[in-house]
Amino acid sequence: MTRVPFNEAYSRAIRLRCPRCGQGELFAGFFRMHERCSGCGMKYEREPGYFLGSIYFNYGWTAMSMSFLYIVLRYVFELPNSYVVPPLLVYVVVVPTVLHRYSRAVWLAFDCHFDHTDLPDVANPAENQPEATTSDSAGV
Ligand SMILES: [Zn+2]
Repeated sequence: MTRVPFNEAYSRAIRLRCPRCGQGELFAGFFRMHERCSGCGMKYEREPGYFLGSIYFNYGWTAMSMSFLYIVLRYVFELPNSYVVPPLLVYVVVVPTVLHRYSRAVWLAFDCHFDHTDLPDVANPAENQPEATTSDSAGV
């Protein structure tokens, strides 16, 4: 199994596509993700709570940009706190909501690049589909 180059996986993530093949869309709606890639069959949520790590990206981007904005508005433009803080409170609610999809996509690309041990093989997409369950498998 080959490792997906990080810049390629990252580029696909920015377009909200599967980091492995670049074909399947990650999201079915604004918040709802597809379970699997329509191109290669990779399961996006590899385990329960998998996307918890995306919160680190989302928090980091929001905190860094908000801090930068605060410093610029407060010390470059010398605005009082009463003018700076209320819009930044709105900012810290709106921006993570907007970046939610991108943080998940980047997290998936990041993890897909660095930990590809249990990822399905792109070359054999038929093997990546979930196994069919048989109703009479328990009976002897
Ligand atoms: Zn894919």
